[in-house]
Amino acid sequence: RAKAEGRNRFKVFNTRMLEDAIRLMDLENDLRAALKRGEFFLDYQPILALCDRRMTGFEALVRWRRPGKGVAPPNDFIPVAEDTGLIVPLGLWVLAEACRTMASWHERFPETRSMSMSVNLSAKQLAQPTLVEDVERVLRATGMDPRALKLEITETVIMDNPEVSILRLKRLKALGVRLSVDDFGTGYSSLSYLQRFPIDTLKVDRAFVSDIESSENRKIVGAVVALAHSLGLDVVAEGVELETQSDVLNGFACEAGQGFLFSRPVCREDVERLFGQGG
Ligand code: C2E
Ligand code: MG
Ligand code: MG
Ligand code: MG
Repeated sequence: RAKAEGRNRFKVFNTRMLEDAIRLMDLENDLRAALKRGEFFLDYQPILALCDRRMTGFEALVRWRRPGKGVAPPNDFIPVAEDTGLIVPLGLWVLAEACRTMASWHERFPETRSMSMSVNLSAKQLAQPTLVEDVERVLRATGMDPRALKLEITETVIMDNPEVSILRLKRLKALGVRLSVDDFGTGYSSLSYLQRFPIDTLKVDRAFVSDIESSENRKIVGAVVALAHSLGLDVVAEGVELETQSDVLNGFACEAGQGFLFSRPVCREDVERLFGQGG
């Protein structure tokens, strides 16, 4: 009996693993086809100066419109795209689309000319030896001003391979592009260590912002902003949802904020309607 149970358990375990593997392969095939069929699109979330609430830029966030299945958020498919390497062509498409959009806004809407476009880079993309050439090619093809492009990289990605990262990031900086550390505070690195990297902006993770009412977290965020400033970095707070959070951050002289308090990520047409009205 025990033997039979053991065998059954093994069978159950095995079936589930197989099902998982099949689901993953299905999703991989779907992703590959979606890229060919043009099912991905970008939303743009405004980033605002906290002192006067003026828009300083946008972050491009990818979405997948699945026929008959609605719109999938990035957390549903970016991990699989990363595991399968599909993130490399997908990420390149995102970069080109975001640059095309910003270049067109710069041309059509003068009030956007001082604004930047932030694009997320994944670990696999940073590991590509051709990354710098790819970015350079996209900038040239889209007519995007390199100084208006900000590439967001999480600290864990940078720490994966610090030597390669430093070199590659320096070459990206040489193109005129700016660099942000995304989700800061969720990894294990220290700011003093990050200082070795040619970074311009620190994005403080939403987790710290959402809990900023607690005196503990308030102290941590205040210290992070002050240290970032002393290292010559500017700071963007992620996930600002409440006026009180914005006030505390502004009190710390945190430069910018991004969050539902100001705007959700919106489609290209909505942004264009806003600027088209001269607003
Ligand atoms: P992220 O880069 O940290 O982007 C910010 C995420 O926080 C976005 O979620 C945004 O919608 C959400 N957010 C902004 N303000 C608020 C707020 O006030 N409250 C709450 N609760 N959430 C807020 P989204 O669009 O679902 O993206 C999730 C993650 O997926 C991104 O986190 C990023 O890591 C990844 N991602 C998105 N687009 C791309 C892409 O093109 N390439 C890569 N490699 N990753 C991407
Ligand atoms: Mg980001
Ligand atoms: Mg982020
Ligand atoms: Mg985040």
